[in-house]
Amino acid sequence: MTNKDLMKLKLSLLIFLLFAGFASSQTSDRLAVVTSSGTKYIPVYERQGIIYFSLVHFAEAISANYYYNEETRKVELKFDKYNLKITTKNPYIVLTSRKNNQSESYQLPTSTYFIDEQIFVPLVYSIDYFIKASGNNIVYEKPDKIVFRGKVIPEKDETKTGFDITGINVDEKVNGTLVRVKSEKRIATYTSSYKNNILMIVFRNVNVDEEKLARIYGKGLVRGINARNTGKDTEIEFTLSNEYTTNEVLNAEGSNDILITIHNKIFARNEEREKNKSKWDFDVIVIDAGHGGKDAGAIGVGGVKEKDVNLGVALKLGEFIEKEMKDVKVVYTRKNDTFVELYKRGKIANEEDGKLFISIHCNSTPKKPSDAAGFEVYLLRPGRTKEAISIAERENSVIQYEENPEKYEKLTDENFILVTMAHSAYMKYSEKFSDILNKQMSVDLPVSSRGVKQAGFYVLVGASMPSVLIETGFLSNKKDTDYLKSSKGQKNIAEAIYKSIKNFREYYEKVMQTEL
Ligand SMILES: [Zn+2]
Repeated sequence: MTNKDLMKLKLSLLIFLLFAGFASSQTSDRLAVVTSSGTKYIPVYERQGIIYFSLVHFAEAISANYYYNEETRKVELKFDKYNLKITTKNPYIVLTSRKNNQSESYQLPTSTYFIDEQIFVPLVYSIDYFIKASGNNIVYEKPDKIVFRGKVIPEKDETKTGFDITGINVDEKVNGTLVRVKSEKRIATYTSSYKNNILMIVFRNVNVDEEKLARIYGKGLVRGINARNTGKDTEIEFTLSNEYTTNEVLNAEGSNDILITIHNKIFARNEEREKNKSKWDFDVIVIDAGHGGKDAGAIGVGGVKEKDVNLGVALKLGEFIEKEMKDVKVVYTRKNDTFVELYKRGKIANEEDGKLFISIHCNSTPKKPSDAAGFEVYLLRPGRTKEAISIAERENSVIQYEENPEKYEKLTDENFILVTMAHSAYMKYSEKFSDILNKQMSVDLPVSSRGVKQAGFYVLVGASMPSVLIETGFLSNKKDTDYLKSSKGQKNIAEAIYKSIKNFREYYEKVMQTEL
């Protein structure tokens, strides 16, 4: 073969490859999605024998509630059991339980694709997670058919009078502006996009009272609001000030309303600081012995005071760390029987640049003695069970001993959204640590585990770092109390916590290495 021929061959190969590449980037409607209202065909993209399907088209075919953020290219599908979150060009699927808000993330062998403004998900690799999220309401029939057995929301009833979206509240907060879009009807799907100071949100299949919304003025970062009906949908445009940085759109708990958090530069700076901080060394641990001084905490069987048990465990834990982790500084929020306000505990932790915050407490029931026994590990999240709410109320009630208890803003759902968003940077670490703690304590202690739970503790709100609160046992229980008040028991607990820290540190440093 001459050089010229070789060139020709190379050229034709190149053209072929280009063409093949071009051809394979096309999508075609050939994945059948079967529901009780019929069969729809949704776009798929095939690459190296793997079928990827369009997530938004799938959500619409099964009329699932979904939220597509066009800015971050993130889609969240709301199923009965879990919310399923997928980001473009990212191999992770995140399932968040609708029951307890716990998240699990799974790594797929390939990333998702972004083609024609749509996110394409690898079918075979991801289908099990869709099945799980839907509570087994999805059946995959190989190779190109998905059957959805769940309820399909009927199309909007056109004969209905009255409006779905009836108003908007705008509130200024430290971190930005909170907008509540009031809706009479559950808004199944909405998409948002931001361009040139305009945040545009399209609410699907709802109408809006245009006249009423035209009378609402902006506040804070929101300079103007413009709402209109377009076909079956509602479009709301928010004109934002230059202080705007990011936004989140969420369904409000317990109503049909939509919450939009519009963040300012203070929020962005805090986020940035958190991100950088999380890359620092694991060098400071903050140990918070609950209560103290005039605040005894729970009073247990035989008059045992919670504040004394907490301090005993805290000091013993500090000793373990100081002895075994010479490169880690231990910071105590109190080292003796003194009263420290809740907000100060978080402040101390932040000022010392803590990398982990551990708040130590004991549980109790109103009736003493009682059978309830065991330890619990708490994460900061809205308490959803009666029990979690009452424990948070009890632990938070110590602010009555403080001089200005009114400075604690009530942890309403709205405030929680702002708080947990500020905590989102380290939530995965808090989750990991609580998981490790729960396992280690279950193995090492005679006190039984009541599991990892979530509730709204003020003391955790203040600490800007991975944090947990441990209820080490019940002072209202005779057996737990005997263990908790004993020096040996306190030492055992401290050692189990120390081992968990050691374990967590390995995980933390591994993650930091890969993130750097
Ligand atoms: Zn307590």
